[in-house]
Amino acid sequence: MSERPVVVLGAGVAGLSAARRLRQRGRRVLLVEAQDHPGGLAGGIQLGGDVYEYGPHIFHTTDPVLLADVKALMGDELLPYERTIQIKFLGGYFKFPLSVPDVLLKLPVTTVIGAGLSFVWHFVKGALVAPEVETSETVLKRYYGDVLYRLFFRDYITRVWGVPPSGFSPSFARERIPRLNILEFLDKAAAGLRRAFARGAALKTEGFVEKVEGELWTTRRGFSLICERMAEDFLKKGGELRLSTRAVAVRRDGARATAVELEHGGARETVECAGVINTLAINEAARMFSPGLGGEVEAAAAALRFRAIVFVGLKVRRSKVLRASFMYFREHSFNRITDLSHFGFRIDPPGTTLLVAEVTCDPKDPLWSDEALVVEEVVADLVREDVLARGEIAATHVFRARHAHPMYLLGYEAALKTLLDAFASLENAETAGRQGRFQYVNTHVAMKMGFDAADRLDARLPRA
Ligand SMILES: Cc1cc2nc3c(=O)[nH]c(=O)nc-3n(C[C@H](O)[C@H](O)[C@H](O)COP(=O)(O)OP(=O)(O)OC[C@H]3O[C@@H](n4cnc5c(N)ncnc54)[C@H](O)[C@@H]3O)c2cc1C
Repeated sequence: MSERPVVVLGAGVAGLSAARRLRQRGRRVLLVEAQDHPGGLAGGIQLGGDVYEYGPHIFHTTDPVLLADVKALMGDELLPYERTIQIKFLGGYFKFPLSVPDVLLKLPVTTVIGAGLSFVWHFVKGALVAPEVETSETVLKRYYGDVLYRLFFRDYITRVWGVPPSGFSPSFARERIPRLNILEFLDKAAAGLRRAFARGAALKTEGFVEKVEGELWTTRRGFSLICERMAEDFLKKGGELRLSTRAVAVRRDGARATAVELEHGGARETVECAGVINTLAINEAARMFSPGLGGEVEAAAAALRFRAIVFVGLKVRRSKVLRASFMYFREHSFNRITDLSHFGFRIDPPGTTLLVAEVTCDPKDPLWSDEALVVEEVVADLVREDVLARGEIAATHVFRARHAHPMYLLGYEAALKTLLDAFASLENAETAGRQGRFQYVNTHVAMKMGFDAADRLDARLPRA
């Protein structure tokens, strides 16, 4: 093959999907990944035979084409999974999504009455008066009322994201937190009460839960196995994958990307290209162009921020530690912890499990750089919470995601538009994925973004 390759930057699920699609279309493709394995956020970390997930990651989609593709890749390795979630709050454990009985029975009566009145007041006020400045705070108060907003959202969001909801664009609340529709609320409350009287048990309502649609899937080695199968499929189709290789610059001639500069083991190489699909953080990718894309793009790139996560993985000498697969906490160094034994992972030796605690932070925080500190904080909190004893811990590991969550801060839309416009103005470049489009999406959407970017670029490039 003598034609220049399309270079795909990043082998997360978006890059893997773009690369696979371009090979299907008969393009020569070079897929470049900084880490020593494919998968990005969904690829997990392999340590001594164990797979620790960032998260972990569950595959789900209602898109029949995407599901069929993953099923074809995985065969009987794809396993159905049912998730269970608990939130520790005000000294008690609440089921997630929040249920009305939990809220009614576990919160003080005065708080419940206050929450109900405040919910009605903000609901009516929101319908009549538009706020001067719309932020995630004004949206959440309209959805839940002031009392529930303060109880469940304000401090939690501030802690996890380092910024209060008043500093977030309204789209953060709109995209991440479903609206509590009053009719739906009353309907669910009534249905829940009926159940409560019938069984003397709790009534249920769905609350603020990220939209997870369709059946849930995992594998014995988590999402990392899906990523491996995607990479194998790409290689089988004749693609070229370079691991432990960092893209450091994209050369351009006017509106055409002409070459990508790569770094591997300290050595630099320039690869001339037919086009580029970026799946790296859009602001970092925009800064890679040489010559640069201009002052406005520079300023926009500086305005976007990502929230980082330090993951503390613990190998524990017990077959199961947590009573739910995911547990959320407000008062600890970590905001979420998962027990991988709930996911059907293969964990050796028998009688052990893997826990992953997620500590959100800024890369300037000591928790990001000081491994001993973050491990100690997590372990001390787990012991204090009576989740485990220090003696049960067989090993600890720290791994990090610098670009875990795009932060939808007030005004981010204008900066993002500038960056997307800059990419759109290039004749042979596309940007895709969670980082590449700065969108808080799950794997199936990142895959679709990769496929779509490949189709768009393929349509624009001449045939050899
Ligand atoms: C904690 C957490 C839990 C999640 N749980 C789920 C879940 O359960 N289900 C779900 O569907 N989604 C989940 N998601 C979302 C999911 O991780 C993402 O949507 C998806 O993995 C994004 O894929 P991507 O390819 O767009 O980005 P990434 O996975 O970030 O891929 C970008 C790739 O680029 C590489 N890279 C970076 N810089 C360079 C460079 N200079 N040169 C070369 N390569 C580079 C990175 O190493 C990475 O591999 C979760 C996300 C997080 C943070």
